[in-house]
Amino acid sequence: MKRVTSTNTSTPPPHAAAATEAALTEPLKELADIKFALDQSTIVAITNQRGIITYVNEAFCRISKYSRAELLGQDHRIINSGYHSKEFIRNLWTTIAGGQVWRGEFRNRAKDGSIYWVDTTIVPFLDEHQKPYQYVAIRHDITQLKLAEEQIRQQADLLDKSQDAILVRDMHDRIIYWNQSAERMYGWRIDEVIGRKTTDFLFQSMPPDYPTAQKTLLERGEWRGEFNQITKDGRALIVESRWTLVRDENGEPVQKLVINTDVTEHKRLQNELQRAAQLSFVGELAAGLAHEVKNPLAGIQGAVDILIRRRNPNDPEREALEGIRHEVTRIDATVRALLDRARPRALSTVETSLVKLTSKAVTMARSQAIGAAARGRLIQIEFEPPEQDIIVNADAAQIEDAILNLVINAIEAIEAEGRITVRIERAETEETGEEAVIEIADTGRGISEENLKRIFNTFFTTTKGGTGLGLPAVRRIARAHGGRVEAISQIGEGSSFRIHLPVGDAKSLDRPFK
Ligand code: FAD
Repeated sequence: MKRVTSTNTSTPPPHAAAATEAALTEPLKELADIKFALDQSTIVAITNQRGIITYVNEAFCRISKYSRAELLGQDHRIINSGYHSKEFIRNLWTTIAGGQVWRGEFRNRAKDGSIYWVDTTIVPFLDEHQKPYQYVAIRHDITQLKLAEEQIRQQADLLDKSQDAILVRDMHDRIIYWNQSAERMYGWRIDEVIGRKTTDFLFQSMPPDYPTAQKTLLERGEWRGEFNQITKDGRALIVESRWTLVRDENGEPVQKLVINTDVTEHKRLQNELQRAAQLSFVGELAAGLAHEVKNPLAGIQGAVDILIRRRNPNDPEREALEGIRHEVTRIDATVRALLDRARPRALSTVETSLVKLTSKAVTMARSQAIGAAARGRLIQIEFEPPEQDIIVNADAAQIEDAILNLVINAIEAIEAEGRITVRIERAETEETGEEAVIEIADTGRGISEENLKRIFNTFFTTTKGGTGLGLPAVRRIARAHGGRVEAISQIGEGSSFRIHLPVGDAKSLDRPFK
């Protein structure tokens, strides 16, 4: 530091000299004491105006792991870790060279390669022309703080990467943390939810078990359960929620940590599976029942036939017996239909007129449409056959079934008034060659994009009372014929189902019937 000198040149009297010495020794001692105190508590370095180190204290040597001899005469590049930008260093130099104090945080590299952080204040000492002649750097070790900050940043990044919505509520249930997954899951941005209560915007109405959940959390420190929630755009969600009470070092509850997992899709699949299991059980049951009923039914039919034959044509009992036979035949047909549903029939193909079988299906469907009209809906079914009939190798009954199924679905999709068009046309593709396409298009309510992906899944249905077996059966029939079925739809505009069947390629029918 700048030496303190006396400016008085005349020789002072002996008593005056003693007084001056005392006056000088006092501040010098005080300065030495301040320097000692500084040395004990901080890391100190002094450089000349070019940045060459002229003084370092013990703490500097300890943290940098260099000896004093190794540091003196060097500049701070010796501990430069290459972390800071040129701009950062330039700013430091322009500040201190301009006579201003600079404050900042340095990331330095010690002699053994380890990294340490120091919170730094550089004070320029100015000469009589206000030019810096040396710089004093006073620092504190903030390595632990920086590491902790880094750790917190990494943990926050991890929380953001999590699939779960993670939020923290204070003890008044106001949100104080909301991770990025919560933004993704609910559509609410962090700035829209901070300070709000989840019960104000994540629930349609206060869930009845919410107060119990709160009570359990306070008593046991955690709670786990399921909630129905809604997103910002009104989508319904089912979430699995885990709450944990966060306590401070004195054991006092301070925050509530909430982790929510979206289980909506999982629940839907679970329900579908459950339904599938139930329906397959019902299928088994139906097959078993049909089998049990069929044999006694055949017995009754045989016995009734004998009794009828024994009566002469005018016998009044004969009419009653014929009535019984008619009912038994009806039961038999129902049982067969039940068996058909439970076990698909094998394919029996012959060369068939597509126009003929389609028009048969359309006629049957029209009788359904008449029923619908009677229930207050106006449905028109149009059939547009091609100019030239198309002959396909097919199981006519099954293709008829498939067309009928699609037309009945189309009738169901029309709420008040609409049109169904059944078209047959030839098509040719590079992959499949010549094809016959049967199109069933309606002007009904349409199918959402999400449901369109799933309509061919067994047991998937959006119709009340539907089984979810119709469309899978249509697909099974098309595939068994070496063809395929596709659907396009637009909500509010209608849907179009197209069955593609190969034309004149008998080999493609060898496919297994699945
Ligand atoms: P450079 O490429 O050398 O410089 C970047 C820019 O800074 C240059 O383009 C120039 O505009 C300006 N600049 C650099 N040196 C000077 C100079 N001598 N005079 C005027 N402008 C200049 N660095 C650390 O890494 N860690 C420290 O703890 C540290 N403590 C310091 C304490 C004091 C008291 C002083 C005076 C400097 C300290 N420095 C420290 C800065 C150090 O002296 C070097 O300037 C720096 O390390 C060089 O970094 P660089 O090679 O990335 O930048």
